[in-house]
Amino acid sequence: MALIFHSKIRRDDWWREVLGKYVPDLEVRFYPDVGNPDDIEYALCFAMPHGVLAGFKNLKGIFSLGAGVDHFFADPDFPKHIPFARVVDDELTGRMSEYVLQHVLNHHRYQIDYDLQQKDHIWKERFPPSARNRKVGILGMGALGAGAAERLNYLGFDVAGWSRSPKDVDGVQSFHGKDQLDTFLERTEILVCLLPLTDETTGIINKDLLGKLPEGASVINPGRGPHVVPEDLIAAIDSGHISGATLDVFIEEPLPAEDPLWSHPRIRVTPHVASVASPNRVAQLAAENIKRIEEGKELLNQVDPDRGY
Ligand code: NAP
Repeated sequence: MALIFHSKIRRDDWWREVLGKYVPDLEVRFYPDVGNPDDIEYALCFAMPHGVLAGFKNLKGIFSLGAGVDHFFADPDFPKHIPFARVVDDELTGRMSEYVLQHVLNHHRYQIDYDLQQKDHIWKERFPPSARNRKVGILGMGALGAGAAERLNYLGFDVAGWSRSPKDVDGVQSFHGKDQLDTFLERTEILVCLLPLTDETTGIINKDLLGKLPEGASVINPGRGPHVVPEDLIAAIDSGHISGATLDVFIEEPLPAEDPLWSHPRIRVTPHVASVASPNRVAQLAAENIKRIEEGKELLNQVDPDRGY
């Protein structure tokens, strides 16, 4: 049984050893050294060049190295009929929650204003409302959004989430579907995007959506770059309607040196570091799913190709 592995970070010996520890009869090959493509039964990868997966005619399972799967569906030849799983993991959720908490607190406590004041040696106090009077809204209440919402609720924030279907997260108000989006936006002072990237969510943070947030709201995007229309965000900040933004993900990564997002005084940029799954856990999940496929069972964390996430 052979598995093809592909990642931009090469740690071939490590992956061979750890996958071999969990699935002893697995032969691990590293793209582009495929050997005979008909031997390949499993793929563990991220951003595989388009068309490659479709060439493995004996493929039984595809496993993403991360939580997001938009790269796979961007491949016009992606074999949608093959069972496909992504990573859902407490540690990954914990790291994302840290990122969200850090930046929600920064916006809640007006840190961008203080950074600007410090440059000019200005001593000017502005006291935030208490957390229970600060309304945080999370677009996307899946593994990562719900995890962040729970922790924000624990800190006392007034938290709401928006998803496709209703959710029941302790202390978190649930909005769902297109019909409830405006009401969710009208109450949201700090907006966090943890949606997957699909046709429906591409460009969702645009002029129209930003205009529905209350004056002075801020935006945090650790979802995917194309969720945000950058020109609309910059215009909304320059008009004073939006007070600032923190962005972890971008339409083009690395963010090109000349991109205006880098130097905007009210935008904070981080280099796609909000969260990552531990390689050991990824290998464990892949091994568990190989076992499940061999036993004819349903995959853990199976992706629905029709929904696109
Ligand atoms: P998930 O469990 O699949 O959750 C997705 C959530 O979005 C669900 O609540 C879903 O609603 C909602 N949703 C999807 N399409 C929608 C639509 N059209 N309208 C309303 N709600 C919609 O995903 P996850 O594991 O939380 O991950 C979310 C995203 O985070 C990933 O796709 C990836 O892009 C990003 N990510 C970023 C980093 C980073 O380092 N920056 C790291 C990991 C992941 P339902 O629950 O009702 O289906």
